[in-house]
Amino acid sequence: MTEQMAHIVYLIAGVLFIFSLAGLAKQETARSGNLCGIIGMAIAILVAMAMASGLHSLVYAAIALGAVLGAIVASRVAMDKMPELVAILHSFVGLAAVLVGFAQFLKGDNSEGVEHLIHQIETYVAIAIGAITFTGSIIAWGKLSATLSGKALTLPGRNLINLGMLVAIVYCGVKFCQADTQEDQLLWLYWNTAIACVLGVHLIVAIGGADMPVVVSMLNSYSGWAAASAGFMLSNNLLIITGALVGSSGAILSYIMCRGMNRSFANVIFGGIASTGGGGSSGESKGVEDCQVVQATQVADLLRQAKKVAIVPGYGMAVARAQHGVSRLTQKLRDEDTEVYFGIHEVAGRLPGHMNVLLAEADVPYDIVLGREEINPDLAEMDVVLVIGANDIVNPDALENPESPIAGMPQVEVWQSKTVVVFKRGMATGYAGVANPLFFKENTRMCFGDASDVVEEVLGALD
Ligand code: NDP
Repeated sequence: MTEQMAHIVYLIAGVLFIFSLAGLAKQETARSGNLCGIIGMAIAILVAMAMASGLHSLVYAAIALGAVLGAIVASRVAMDKMPELVAILHSFVGLAAVLVGFAQFLKGDNSEGVEHLIHQIETYVAIAIGAITFTGSIIAWGKLSATLSGKALTLPGRNLINLGMLVAIVYCGVKFCQADTQEDQLLWLYWNTAIACVLGVHLIVAIGGADMPVVVSMLNSYSGWAAASAGFMLSNNLLIITGALVGSSGAILSYIMCRGMNRSFANVIFGGIASTGGGGSSGESKGVEDCQVVQATQVADLLRQAKKVAIVPGYGMAVARAQHGVSRLTQKLRDEDTEVYFGIHEVAGRLPGHMNVLLAEADVPYDIVLGREEINPDLAEMDVVLVIGANDIVNPDALENPESPIAGMPQVEVWQSKTVVVFKRGMATGYAGVANPLFFKENTRMCFGDASDVVEEVLGALD
């Protein structure tokens, strides 16, 4: 295959990736979008292999091993473990950029003058971004899988520390470009990698609580930029296009997540106000004895009488894997001519779009799945709102109590409806560790138990 042909095929793969992103933007077209991505990636891998003459057998072995491991992990991962998987996959992209950077450096290049300098800068930047993404994603994985505490660890003067590390990376970069021998250059590259690794850890440990959605989308973006910088280093147009697509879509996602929390990006990265040890709420002194507890049969009675029902799912629905039961409940209510809508908060669950994926998996019709801003004006007309394993996204304190750690975070305002029924196992707080006065409101009923079991019981009682 000639180089020109390869460029044309790369361009086709790039266009397929754009179609893929466009398809993934809507649930109706998500499958075809995914297919475009798979075809584009398959073409890209085949052409890259065809272009690399005399590939070492180790490379084939690595590709085969990676494909088998990837297929096993992807087919086995439970839906509620998806956020951790995504975070750890981001770390692989970062690590790949670091390793490719070192390999490229050790291979050496024959360019001279400005071209050589640009090549060195590309290598250096790719390694720095890759290392930040690598360690940052590992920390995000730890926080999402609860291996590490989800709380923000904010050291005094943390912004200065970050700035200091950034300056050190730039300084090492200048030294790297000025160094005369490969050995000296390698030393500066090691320094760059070490400092960038620490910076990645420090940036992400300092963000926690309700701000974590931004971390996930931000690292998604970083992994794209790491790939794009590796593309510049390898002079591979497709890698540049793909990296830029992932980088910019991750940045847009971060913007959407910030809007979902009414925060600016800079405020999340440099502010560090979302950490909380729990409480900080006007409802903190109350307990289960102050709630109105109902059983599944009573929930069934409420639903039988309702004409309009809204369902607000959260992370607990993913944990309980209750989406299939919720889908059957929806169907049952619709069969009885009850209007049913879903209200999805941008940051519900542990992954951008988490709830949409679960509902699509359970075949909930797309047209009744509404965003937070769409459903809020109609909530007052709802006879019953079922809150299924959600907490931080339905907390009135965020809007009413300026002292709350999540003050200002937009909410699905379920308390506006006639009756709210909350399905959860106990009085535990949500991810942000903030108490929720919703549970004690006059029009709120608590139905305790695993969401999946409770939904099945309600279904049984409706029969
Ligand atoms: P929350 O984490 O606020 O609340 C989930 C609730 O579900 C808990 O209070 C828990 O209470 C309940 N629950 C857990 N398991 C079950 C079960 N098996 N059955 C019934 N209930 C259960 O989730 P939300 O979706 O409301 O909010 C998302 C939070 O996660 C936000 O703070 C967001 O910032 C953060 N986040 C979001 C990310 C994203 O990208 N979307 C990424 C990282 C963090 P109990 O234990 O009493 O049952």
